[in-house]
Amino acid sequence: MIGEERVIYLDNNATTRTAPEAVQAMLPYFSEYYGNASSIHKFGGRLAKVVEEGRAKVAAFLGADPSEIIFTSCGTESDNAAILSSLDVCPKRRKIVISTVEHPAILNLGKDLERRGYTVVRIPVDNFGRLDMERARETIDENTAVVSVMWANNETGNLYPVEELAELAHRAGALFHTDAVQAAGKVPFKLRDMEIDMLSVSGHKFHAPKGIGALYVRRGVRFRPFVVGGHQERGRRAGTENVPYIVGMGVAAELALASFDKENTYVRKLRDDLQARLTAAIPNVRVNGDQEHRLPNTTNLSFEYIEGESILMHMDIYGICASSGSACTTGSLEPSHVMRAMGVPYTAAHGAIRFSFSRYNTQEDVDAVVDVMPGIISKIRAISPYWADFVAKNKQ
Ligand code: PLP
Repeated sequence: MIGEERVIYLDNNATTRTAPEAVQAMLPYFSEYYGNASSIHKFGGRLAKVVEEGRAKVAAFLGADPSEIIFTSCGTESDNAAILSSLDVCPKRRKIVISTVEHPAILNLGKDLERRGYTVVRIPVDNFGRLDMERARETIDENTAVVSVMWANNETGNLYPVEELAELAHRAGALFHTDAVQAAGKVPFKLRDMEIDMLSVSGHKFHAPKGIGALYVRRGVRFRPFVVGGHQERGRRAGTENVPYIVGMGVAAELALASFDKENTYVRKLRDDLQARLTAAIPNVRVNGDQEHRLPNTTNLSFEYIEGESILMHMDIYGICASSGSACTTGSLEPSHVMRAMGVPYTAAHGAIRFSFSRYNTQEDVDAVVDVMPGIISKIRAISPYWADFVAKNKQ
């Protein structure tokens, strides 16, 4: 709720509500137990144990050993740390392999690395957003330092074959990293049974606060720190330990671990219900992405011949929060890089809206959206020349 307004929050891939249990657990560590976990005195020093408890909870959530978890400030930092470390520890290998649908945390780092003389290969996807595995097989070679492909895409929810990619990377002697920022909390992990070398997560995507992330580095994988300074995190990430946020992330990880079933039943059902009812009630709606291999909480729908921003503004009047994939660049609305990479037609890419759920959503949220969306879409289409054109052509 903002003021008295009702908020229907279907933008959980952007960020999530911090779990009330996490907030409660964090509170004493701001003004009561505010010491520095690295201090010699008991007041601070005993917080080292609290940090380790948080680490153990995050490790259990990921199916990893606590010694394999490094706390960071966010998913972006974890992604940067993983890629830059891989290049540092394999200096003779000058190539990184990513996909065309990565988050900017990886894509823009890739551009930066190209400017520094590295080769960056971006594996394309098909119309459903599925990765071209043939291309991956051809590309990953003995000059590749690291392969980094996301576990789940933030816009479509598409899941990528990370185990198969890890195997390809290892066959070529390369490291494998995955950005699991969207997958964490929605897909159960058992990293100890997998070949993944490094994995990034971000607290605020699974009901921990913003400003805390983690990087999993499999035991035995060489790692060079990205943030250099003090000895914290066993010299792998400098900076005073963020005790309250580590506590919050630990509690959120525990809750997420206990909620995987709910993600796949309750949350999936809400998502499927919204998608089915909107596609039935509104003409010319396209479902973007791979419906078979997708996160249970995400649906990306294109309302053809109109602009996503306009749809979002109308939804906002009713307190409904979602996202469009467009980015406003130089005053013109460009479809997102994910929609472009998938070759979604121009008339559909512009009207793409992502609805993303969490366990805090309810059936009433879905019903409220289904009530207002047909009216919103008709109203916008009534003034769209592209829609008028489409209707005229289909009358002939
Ligand atoms: N990777 C993916 C797939 C994301 O969706 C996001 C955030 O939207 C990030 C990385 C960046 O995470 P953070 O906001 O914690 O830096």
